[in-house]
Amino acid sequence: MPRYEYRCKACGDTFELTRPMAESSDPAVCPAGHGDTVKLLSTVAVTGSAGPAPQGGGGGCCGGGCCG
Ligand SMILES: [Zn+2]
Repeated sequence: MPRYEYRCKACGDTFELTRPMAESSDPAVCPAGHGDTVKLLSTVAVTGSAGPAPQGGGGGCCGGGCCG
């Protein structure tokens, strides 16, 4: 089950809820009981425009034998 992160606008706290994807947009109540919350971006890493990181070759360290 995916985990979603929310932020409470009342107390500024952030909290996570594990709930079905179908309920991801449902209102979430913060641990302090406030209902004025917003859903943050998924905690799943999203790659930006930088593209995939180079793996070996060209790195200062990986030119030798230290990286296998
Ligand atoms: Zn709160």
